[in-house]
Amino acid sequence: MPLTTSEIQALDSAHYMHPFTDHKALAEKGARVITRGEGVYIWDSEGNKILDGMSGLWCVNVGYGRKELVEAAVKQMEVLPYYNSFFQTTNVPAVQLADRIIKLAGERYSHVLFGSSGSESNDTIVRMVRHYWTTLGQPERSVIISRKNAYHGSTMCGASLGGMSGMHAQGGLPIPGIVHIEQPYHFGLAPDQDKDAFGIEAAGWLEQKILEVGADKVAAFIGEPVQGAGGVIIPPKTYWPEIQRICDKYGILLICDEVICGFGRLGAWFGSELMGAKPDLMTFAKGVTSGYIPLGGVVVGKRVAEVLIEKGGEFNHGYTYSGHPVACAVALANLDLIEKEGLVERVRDETGPHLAHCFAALAEHPLVAGAETFGMVAGLVLMKDKHQHLAFDEDLEVGMICRKHCFAHGLIMRAVGDRMIVAPPLAMTKEQIDEMVRLIRLCLDATLQELKE
Ligand code: PLP
Repeated sequence: MPLTTSEIQALDSAHYMHPFTDHKALAEKGARVITRGEGVYIWDSEGNKILDGMSGLWCVNVGYGRKELVEAAVKQMEVLPYYNSFFQTTNVPAVQLADRIIKLAGERYSHVLFGSSGSESNDTIVRMVRHYWTTLGQPERSVIISRKNAYHGSTMCGASLGGMSGMHAQGGLPIPGIVHIEQPYHFGLAPDQDKDAFGIEAAGWLEQKILEVGADKVAAFIGEPVQGAGGVIIPPKTYWPEIQRICDKYGILLICDEVICGFGRLGAWFGSELMGAKPDLMTFAKGVTSGYIPLGGVVVGKRVAEVLIEKGGEFNHGYTYSGHPVACAVALANLDLIEKEGLVERVRDETGPHLAHCFAALAEHPLVAGAETFGMVAGLVLMKDKHQHLAFDEDLEVGMICRKHCFAHGLIMRAVGDRMIVAPPLAMTKEQIDEMVRLIRLCLDATLQELKE
């Protein structure tokens, strides 16, 4: 007999510790049990169909139920389910995937170091850039500059690179040698303030921090091309070129966290391509397998790889699952699908512009003070009085009210403070975008109604 929803919820509550969850609050209502997915929809154990506006957690880029990925996993498991790359050994899918990723990333890059997640990838770069500078005889160049409100993972290094104060408060973070500057959040600029000028100003905070720390102590700067979990913060177009200029000026390594932006989400294989940045290292995860199986890694630029390989000796770093053959086989099948269906181009030319158009129309809603999109990520800023630029009282948690209505209307949309965000599967059609936007409008109306009561 299959378990009933309440039996599953009881087991969940008794034994399953959820990531980023208030368990007391969860126990009161019971977890929603997700049982299956197809296309851009998921279903819960009560048979409710839900439009997944978040691609799981920014990852199910080709949508659910893709047989090609399942078949690739099964085929590889039958032949070689696992082997490591530690004993001067390698495996075919890992080599093929590294080659494929380098071709997609471009000629600035030469190697890929695999792990299983975005957090591991960001841990890897902390050790890698420090090893790089030590190999070059500059071990004092160890400080990494990141940004406030950024999310780079949950491990000690990932959470330290991240700039989430709530995460730092638990566990005495950041670890030494990681410092933060403000994010380039331009929403709320006065109408006569120039966005491009703000982009230059915000990048200038990096230079200020470099001078404060001492240029000879700074190893690298890390940032997402578009900050995702921080609330879909899309920088002005002047920001990244200026960041690049500053990194070049001081010889600092530039790292782009492409965990969300990579593999097509912004309408290019890597988001940094569109931003005018030329990172020395890129971290990735999520979209590389469309979340069907855990895989992440670091794309290593020639500048770093040549030093590590020619002079660095053994880099004492790696994971049991680095280059896992099944994960790499699934990634190859996923990249095949993305290419065959032209998803990157579709996001750039068709679905991305359509999403932008629809979100611009949502900005007319009385609750919405601003709407921003880039490729297949989008955010709405909710405000109490958009004409007076008056924010809601934080304690009201208006985002959570709206999220509750999304749940009730069969839509997954994420709340980050007062910002409501979506990152739908790249395989979503224009008609499905229309359906999602129709639901968002209903949820905004329901939120407005509740606030009036
Ligand atoms: N970096 C970014 C930009 C992310 O959004 C995330 C996860 O959401 C991570 C890193 C961490 O990835 P993972 O959860 O696979 O460890």
